[in-house]
Amino acid sequence: MPRSVRPGTPPRRKRKKTMRNKGTGAYEIAVIGGGASGLFAAAAAAEVARRNGLPAHVTVYEGNARVGKKILVTGNGRCNLTNEKMGAAYYRGATELFEAVYARFDRAATLAFFEDAGLFTRADFAGRVYPMSNQAASVLDALRGVCAERGVREEVSSKISSLQRQGGGFLLNGAFYADRAVVACGGRAAPVHGSDGSGYALLKGLGVTVTPLYPALTPLHIKDFTRSLKGIRAAGAVTLKSGGKTLARAAGEIQYTDYGLSGIPAMQVSRFAAQTLAEGGEVLAYVDSAPEVSPEELTERLLTVRKNHPAMTAENLLAGFLPKRLGTVLIGACSLSPAREIGALHENAVAKLVSAVKRTKYAVASVRGFADAQVTAGGVPAEEIDETTMELKKVKGLYVCGEIADVDGDCGGYNLQWAFSSGAVAGQAAARSLLGR
Ligand SMILES: Cc1cc2nc3c(=O)[nH]c(=O)nc-3n(C[C@H](O)[C@H](O)[C@H](O)COP(=O)(O)OP(=O)(O)OC[C@H]3O[C@@H](n4cnc5c(N)ncnc54)[C@H](O)[C@@H]3O)c2cc1C
Repeated sequence: MPRSVRPGTPPRRKRKKTMRNKGTGAYEIAVIGGGASGLFAAAAAAEVARRNGLPAHVTVYEGNARVGKKILVTGNGRCNLTNEKMGAAYYRGATELFEAVYARFDRAATLAFFEDAGLFTRADFAGRVYPMSNQAASVLDALRGVCAERGVREEVSSKISSLQRQGGGFLLNGAFYADRAVVACGGRAAPVHGSDGSGYALLKGLGVTVTPLYPALTPLHIKDFTRSLKGIRAAGAVTLKSGGKTLARAAGEIQYTDYGLSGIPAMQVSRFAAQTLAEGGEVLAYVDSAPEVSPEELTERLLTVRKNHPAMTAENLLAGFLPKRLGTVLIGACSLSPAREIGALHENAVAKLVSAVKRTKYAVASVRGFADAQVTAGGVPAEEIDETTMELKKVKGLYVCGEIADVDGDCGGYNLQWAFSSGAVAGQAAARSLLGR
């Protein structure tokens, strides 16, 4: 597919630091932040302008030396860009905002955008959609290619640290004028990729509210964690409780580390732990290492094996359905010897083992911080955003998209889908608002 600019060579133009973009006769649309949502917003704004013959320059101001740095590390470098299972149930925070925005630009529209750009995708067994190339770089290249074709300019190494109202528009860093601006700076998660939270400061400076922020999709620190579990990966489910109330539950592969629990189930529930701990609550994580079987079924199975193979060791009994090292730790937690013959186990001991397998209790000390988090919980609340346009109600002409809004999704492509949907809606609306003026 022909592209006016090859991905990898951004169409950079040296700009004099004046208000020179005013007076060109064309409208200026500034997108602050060249991540997933910002690039999508820019592509969408440029397309509306092109289709309607609107004279407009769309410029992405990116603090890093290149756009889309975070996209490259998503999905372990493969970029899980969306999911076949979609809906508000996979999101937290302002779920009603997600629903309204997603109704305007959904997964099908997202995949059509990428398909048109020559990016083919495939879904795995869990519905997670990846590029067929299995390389996140393909997604970034496709996005940048479309942006370049549509004439979007990239201003890299251009961190925006001030955003002020100026006439009917905005002044960025006291130098660049924009008739419309889209704040797509991301949240505070993984700041090494550029999202250092500076977008919130830009918005707060204009009177916009930001709800408390918590790291989400991040591992759990466990009090007095058994280090001998380190390195084990095992299927399981994590149920998070506080004051007897269940906060969240997630299943998948648990990764045991030297400080606690990681892997998708632990990360999935982490936002609830972060919020509850910040509010002074106590948080317990119960791990079920055999979620496919009920306690009764497991008890019955273990008693049958005990009856038929009394000389089997306790260690081998659990090794029949758990990684051996995990089983040994659980047996130790029941004050039993791994070498104990199971024929000699009293029914109470079997019940204890079942309880250890189905309900190991861990006290959550904290969650890993923003540096290790994949996403930010909290942000600009739904009440301050027009759900049909992503325009801020308090600041006309200013739009937000992506993680900076109070929407966070589960693991599985949900956060990028939000970035794409909200970016498309914000970009289109910013350009449309200039039509017929
Ligand atoms: C390791 C990791 C893996 C992930 N994997 C997945 C996955 O597979 N699927 C999924 O759905 N989600 C995944 N996510 C989450 C997903 O990447 C983010 O939710 C999504 O990228 C958010 O997009 P965004 O555009 O809002 O913000 P970002 O992608 O963070 O982009 C914001 C951009 O704005 C720039 N910026 C910030 N402040 C300024 C400023 N003041 N001036 C100029 N530029 C600025 C930043 O440098 C950055 O380039 C992952 C996240 C991480 C950290």
